[in-house]
Amino acid sequence: MQPVLKSSKLANVCYDIRGPVMARARQMEEDGHRIIKLNIGNTAPFGFEVPEEILQDVIHNLPNASGYCESKGLFAARKAIMHYTQEKKIADVTMEDIYIGNGVSELIVMAMQGLLNTGDEVLVPMPDYPLWTAAVTLAGGTPHHYICDEQSGWLPDLNDIRGKIGPNTRAIVLINPNNPTGALYPVELLREVVEIARQHQLIIYSDEIYDKVLYDGATHTSIASLADDVLFITFNGLSKNYRAAGYRAGWLVVSGEKKHARDYIEGLTMLASMRLCSNVPAQYGIQTALGGYQSINDLVAPGGRLTKQRDLAYQLLTDIPGVTCVKPQGAMYLFPRLDAKMYPIADDQEFILELLLEEKVLLVQGSGFNWPNPDHFRVVFLPNVDDLTEAIGRIAHFLEHYRKR
Ligand code: PLP
Repeated sequence: MQPVLKSSKLANVCYDIRGPVMARARQMEEDGHRIIKLNIGNTAPFGFEVPEEILQDVIHNLPNASGYCESKGLFAARKAIMHYTQEKKIADVTMEDIYIGNGVSELIVMAMQGLLNTGDEVLVPMPDYPLWTAAVTLAGGTPHHYICDEQSGWLPDLNDIRGKIGPNTRAIVLINPNNPTGALYPVELLREVVEIARQHQLIIYSDEIYDKVLYDGATHTSIASLADDVLFITFNGLSKNYRAAGYRAGWLVVSGEKKHARDYIEGLTMLASMRLCSNVPAQYGIQTALGGYQSINDLVAPGGRLTKQRDLAYQLLTDIPGVTCVKPQGAMYLFPRLDAKMYPIADDQEFILELLLEEKVLLVQGSGFNWPNPDHFRVVFLPNVDDLTEAIGRIAHFLEHYRKR
């Protein structure tokens, strides 16, 4: 019999956050080892609870949620999202501009499938949340990675962006606040990105799924609030701000220069209808989530659980010789750098695998985020302080031996 091969469309598509090292960790757990996992931004296993009122709303509405709903999503949920866009000062968003999906992930793939033809290019940050690179590639496009500069707190390098724009460039992706770096972009920088998009007629895709996970009193500006003559697609959802990743509820909002995008919008609407609708029970939680008391604020306040864990992880990591790190202003990750002289790593996936085998700590290597050099890794700071201390202690132990090799 002929071997069954995967489609050639998948040839260059990678998503290493759940890649081979994670598969090895699962195997080790099945063999009885306890692994400390600092690899996935999934809050539930670390004891972060979905706000009770959201849970109760979903439970209460479950009996009404067994049918399909409108492809774009439940009216009440989209109305609440519309109000949220008004709070974020994004102008002129109507109910029709909002699409609810099974998490932002589904919508990222849909947005790229609806846009790209073979040869089209999209500017994607480097490092990135790798679904963006994968979704562009799967849709037949070419991701062009622009540099986020560690020296300037991981802000996008505007000159690099300008230099990478060509006749086939269609769009620019921003992840703000950023995964994996934790950077939060200042409004002046966002204005410059808008200006670049305006000059070159690029669409701006802004992934803002961490827009409430902000430390030290920082505030977030939605880039879509800065102009109405550029097409913006803004993404957000329940997974991070509301610790409800398993509900699979996210949304996409089209705003700005919509009149020249009617055909694309028609494509998005068709793609949304092809998957009928997104998970209905979870949509019942959206209105409650977006209104009133925002419990995430307690977690990110000074002394709040996430702030404490960020500070601890940052301190412990940067105490290790040859490890430096930009302190995150948002999200739930650190992206430390290893001094290349002290740690001459040839293959960062191998490095992460060795750490797993020797110390039973699971991380994701920098190359998993399309970072080009084998000198970074991502740490999720969701575990409690005891587990974080133990995990980073083990990382320090591993690195000490690595230096002496
Ligand atoms: N975008 C970013 C930047 C993320 O970090 C993640 C998940 O980690 C997602 C999107 C996916 O979110 P969702 O759970 O809504 O699919």
